[in-house]
Amino acid sequence: MTQRLLLFLKTFPLFLVVFTQLPFSAEAWGFFAHKQINRYAITTLPPDMFRFYKKHLTFLTEKSVNPDKRRYMIKHEAAKHFIDLEMYQTSSLHENKNLFKRVEKQDIPKDIIVSHGELPWAVLNVQKKLTQAFIHRDIPKILKLSADLGHYIADAHVPLHTTQNYDGQMTGQEGIHALWETRLPTLFIGLYNFFVGQASYIEDPLLHIWDIVIQSHTMVPKVLALEKQLSAQSPVLLKYSFEQSGKLLKKQYSVEFSTLYHQALQGQVEERLRQSIIQVGNFWLTAWMNAGSPSLDDFEDITVMQDQKEQPIQETIADIKIYSDQCTRLG
Ligand SMILES: [Zn+2]
Repeated sequence: MTQRLLLFLKTFPLFLVVFTQLPFSAEAWGFFAHKQINRYAITTLPPDMFRFYKKHLTFLTEKSVNPDKRRYMIKHEAAKHFIDLEMYQTSSLHENKNLFKRVEKQDIPKDIIVSHGELPWAVLNVQKKLTQAFIHRDIPKILKLSADLGHYIADAHVPLHTTQNYDGQMTGQEGIHALWETRLPTLFIGLYNFFVGQASYIEDPLLHIWDIVIQSHTMVPKVLALEKQLSAQSPVLLKYSFEQSGKLLKKQYSVEFSTLYHQALQGQVEERLRQSIIQVGNFWLTAWMNAGSPSLDDFEDITVMQDQKEQPIQETIADIKIYSDQCTRLG
């Protein structure tokens, strides 16, 4: 299988890979958690920011999934959603800081960085652009970049976004990615508490985002082992069920199996969702403070929900140029 095909499969919505009979519109389920994370991240903000972000809650929630949609249009988008930490063989924050310096010095070939994921760098890059948008009082960009940043930070909290075995394809567990990040939150969100307290300033965003992906990566063995253990105990007929989705019959992990897996994980999915929410708030707050904490009440009140104002494709292509320029500097 070519590297490009592997990359495509890795970032293609997994329910489409595993259950190919699903209609495209079923993506809404896959986007469920992202929307909740951006929505609740607003509750972590101090009053000055909260008033502004709450006013644009619908935009920030709905556009939280745009980075995933862009993967079908933009060649370099896919690599921003994951990082194969095995490739870097790093075990400490200190080593990872050195890794970033090596990337800056062009010590690591750019194709290695791209093929094994750019997630931490995507977060840092978008955060810097968000700071600039606050400085320039550019509301459409503040909203677009806030929504994007929320997406990448949320991805960084998913253990299977930090490993080469991203869908259990190396261990005979294909489908586990969608089970963990889509099926479980969708089934059990009613049990979760998403009020996570107040956001705080991040002193060192570089170390902070590396810390997050490393934490996620340490959870990979548990995510895989528990599913394998339960699968061994569950007959296939009990592991899967068929659910009606429009006119189609959709193969899905059964509620029974999902419940057992969710219990075995002992709150892991809720914890990663809660962490995502507070960290999105932290990164938003940090970008705003780094811009000098401008008063958002004074910003021009405009509506940016109309597609014609967002111009997604043109903006994204412009982003790529900026990002690719930055990548050239970095690696
Ligand atoms: Zn993503």
